[in-house]
Amino acid sequence: MKNTIAIVGRPNVGKSTLFNRLVGQRKAIMDNESGVTRDRHYGYGDWIGKYYTVIDTGGYVHNSEDVFEEEINKQVKLAIDEADVVLFMVDVDAGLHPLDEEFANVLRRYQGQKPIYLVANKADTNARAHAAGEFYALGMGDGEIYSVSSQSGSGTGDLLDAVVSHFEEEGEEEPDAGVPKIAVVGRPNAGKSSFVNLLLGTDRSIVTDIAGTTRDSISARYNAFGNEFILVDTAGLRRKTKVKEDVEFYSVLRAIRAMEESDVCVVMLDATRGIEAQDVNIISLADKNRKGIVILVNKWDLIEDKETNTAKEFEEKIREKIAPIAYPPIVFISVLNKQRVHKAIETAIQVYENKMHKIPTSQLNEVMLREIEKSPPPATKGKMVRIKYVTQLPTHNPVFAFFCNLPQYVKESYTRYLENRLRENFGFQGVPIGIVFRKK
Ligand code: GDP
Ligand code: GDP
Repeated sequence: MKNTIAIVGRPNVGKSTLFNRLVGQRKAIMDNESGVTRDRHYGYGDWIGKYYTVIDTGGYVHNSEDVFEEEINKQVKLAIDEADVVLFMVDVDAGLHPLDEEFANVLRRYQGQKPIYLVANKADTNARAHAAGEFYALGMGDGEIYSVSSQSGSGTGDLLDAVVSHFEEEGEEEPDAGVPKIAVVGRPNAGKSSFVNLLLGTDRSIVTDIAGTTRDSISARYNAFGNEFILVDTAGLRRKTKVKEDVEFYSVLRAIRAMEESDVCVVMLDATRGIEAQDVNIISLADKNRKGIVILVNKWDLIEDKETNTAKEFEEKIREKIAPIAYPPIVFISVLNKQRVHKAIETAIQVYENKMHKIPTSQLNEVMLREIEKSPPPATKGKMVRIKYVTQLPTHNPVFAFFCNLPQYVKESYTRYLENRLRENFGFQGVPIGIVFRKK
């Protein structure tokens, strides 16, 4: 990605507040308890005619007061690898903190490679802005300190002037347009983070192994088999809590948010547990939100004595539970043994393509009017419904408008007939199809 700014710094200095300001929208939801709900770790903004991408690196690592050196290394490495300009943020209100020094020590190794700006945040007043002088001791950022208040926005204009001077190109307004957004959701322990980490490769993901910590992988763009895609809010994030209900609650909340932001929702099941109520709920929500859906049955390696029919029977049980939603493809995988992981991601991308697919009107009419002629809508209360014309609406998910004389007399069962014929003739695997009747 072009024109990329990364924000690094210890927890609570205000990275996500600045992130929100630079992105210009309140896309990342914050919580004063650090690290609870960071929705997005990168976003887009523009300044004096240049478009840029911002990465809040803090969102990708263990995010609490007890930060480890290894995590600082990862956070800085990520910033240096991904960004054109690095903002190193400190907090004038709190003053110089030992962790600031640790960050500075790591950052200093990369000085000269990328422009690094020292940003003294929470300089809400002049007095506080002056207090920023103590951070000269860090010997960072080419000797200059940018005092800002991310909360009020003061000082951020000067900072951006300096930052965008490094960008030679205008950048892209919407670099993600047309790139499939995929969310991987499912119950805790289904294997979501393992899956995502396998896809991203170990270098591209940051995971702390400490139980109960907030962790996440990089929800950046990824390229597999020539396909680019974005993993939305990848699975690992968890709330630091000991209360079981809380874990459940947050995992459901995160799943819903991720699903809403995605084009395709990949629901991962644990083969040893089968499909559970929560999975069914998210599938039905995804259907209502008109998202593409792929079901992955993970840990297939743990199912013993598999016979020819084992997968088929398993699939039938899932289909029974999610009825009447019949369209999601089901892929049996083992992340552990790296079995069919490629197939899983290819399926998700295919579903995205199905979702975007547009059938030419002439072809649609030729095929569907013939199907309608073969089996016309049954008469209701002596009324004959005549469908004359069909067209696909210009939406980002397939919706078909059937024009007829008496739209209110078309029965649900006939709608299903039409949906089945559309699927039979045109595919659309994994995607909900909308059917509307309009008066002509
Ligand atoms: P992060 O952990 O570095 O991402 O920090 P956050 O953005 O979550 O901010 C930590 C706390 O500092 C939050 O309570 C913010 O409201 C507060 N904060 C952020 N920027 C400012 C600022 O410019 N002035 C003041 N007074 N508080 C700020
Ligand atoms: P998440 O909570 O959904 O992110 O699940 P994790 O990725 O943390 O995985 C939970 C546990 O299941 C870990 O111990 C993984 O090693 C294990 N696991 C993940 N995938 C597989 C698999 O395909 N087979 C087996 N046997 N174990 C797996």
